[in-house]
Amino acid sequence: MPLEMEQECPECGETRTFWKTGTTKLHLGTKQKWQCGECGFGFVRIDGAVDTGATA
Ligand SMILES: [Zn+2]
Repeated sequence: MPLEMEQECPECGETRTFWKTGTTKLHLGTKQKWQCGECGFGFVRIDGAVDTGATA
């Protein structure tokens, strides 16, 4: 499981490197917290599905 990935950041308005800041096991899958390396914008995704609006 990679610790970083390229992702469009809504705060920066362009593609940034996001860092994985945490992983939590849930009954419905694995919840991962990602954070933009530039502005600190965070989001959560569960098994590849982006959970909109979540600012970790
Ligand atoms: Zn950003």
